Amino acid sequence: MEYEKMIEWIPFERLTNFQMIREEELGMIFMATWLDGIRIIRGELVEYSQSRIESCGVNLIILHDFQTCDTFIKALTNYTQLEGNIVYGITQSTETNQYIIIIPDEFNSRRNNSNGVCKYCKCYNTSPAWCQSCDPWRAALEWTNENKEINNLIKEFIKEYRFKATEYEKVIEWISFDELINLKEIKGVSDLEFMATWVKGVRTIKSESGQFTQSRTILSVDLMKLNYSQTNALELLENVKAHIQSEKYRIHGITQNTETGLYMLVIEFCHNKRWLANGICEHCKRYNTSPAWCYLCDPPNVVQETSGDKNIDDCIKEFQLKATAFENVIEWISFDRLEDIKTIGKGGFGTVYSSVWLDGKRMVEGDNNLGCVRCRKKSFEVALKELPGSQTSSSEFLNEVSQIYSPTM
Ligand SMILES: [Zn+2]
Ligand SMILES: [Zn+2]
Repeated sequence: MEYEKMIEWIPFERLTNFQMIREEELGMIFMATWLDGIRIIRGELVEYSQSRIESCGVNLIILHDFQTCDTFIKALTNYTQLEGNIVYGITQSTETNQYIIIIPDEFNSRRNNSNGVCKYCKCYNTSPAWCQSCDPWRAALEWTNENKEINNLIKEFIKEYRFKATEYEKVIEWISFDELINLKEIKGVSDLEFMATWVKGVRTIKSESGQFTQSRTILSVDLMKLNYSQTNALELLENVKAHIQSEKYRIHGITQNTETGLYMLVIEFCHNKRWLANGICEHCKRYNTSPAWCYLCDPPNVVQETSGDKNIDDCIKEFQLKATAFENVIEWISFDRLEDIKTIGKGGFGTVYSSVWLDGKRMVEGDNNLGCVRCRKKSFEVALKELPGSQTSSSEFLNEVSQIYSPTM
């Protein structure tokens, strides 16, 4: 057998800093520091010397129900025969007389001193202010089970995902509905129901003079409808899983509307479009989704002049609700705001005119330093296209407009 792969007897007093990480089917998993450290071979091509690295972090398995020597050896043999399992050694607790298997720290390769030290196991974190061994488990311990079966199922589900979270900010959590205030209906985006202020706040890593700390920032979030039949919890979880896998939005957690009983996803709908350079939305206080424009807050607030025809007004409103940028907002333009109208073409498709639009087209000016401001390019030259047959019916005209104009996010 190779030197590094020898299983050895490790005296219990050579292990310190015990920290329970979690409970598994096999047993309780602990972290500890092994003062002697693992065996390594030092040396160049020809000469090797047996050596140990200094004290290192290890994991311990304290098996359930294997207290006799025989059953322990059987369990140990089974464990070592599974592909990929490495065992450094065994020990026996001097306090409880339990036999313990010592295995590598499962996240050792991701521990780095720039991530800070975990307050539980005292090892370096696996990502900034996040220890994959300790943090998911600690957070799950804070939960109390509820008497509602479906809520417990969802919490089990969230717990499972929590253990997969490689970073503090990526944890999906159960969000109590009373942590969400200022609910505001969202219009024009399918399945998005409300925007709300999450008072407990989204997970944020703060960095001060090279030190990372776990923190929260109060911020607006979006609440998305989940499609499921109310009696079928599995269907609900499948639906959540599909949303997580789609990676279309940043998912903070799941909540239950206490008024309707319906479960909703708490998300950041446009997370990959909100940038500092776009400025901050005055309504939701998040970065805008395009310069000086928030896709979720601004469209419903566009002030609309009436055309005098309800169909046309509704159609314009519908398009406005989908506007992805300030420049893309279509509007009703009163005919007296158009001057200097000249015919430039005539054909089967209708007549085309040139004209000067006094109010001018929408624009965003500015940059990162000055900030973006909305403005108009006044007295702007535009073309007018006449649609034949539109004098009698606005619906035919609107049909044609819909074909020309189709915004997408
Ligand atoms: Zn830890
Ligand atoms: Zn906004």
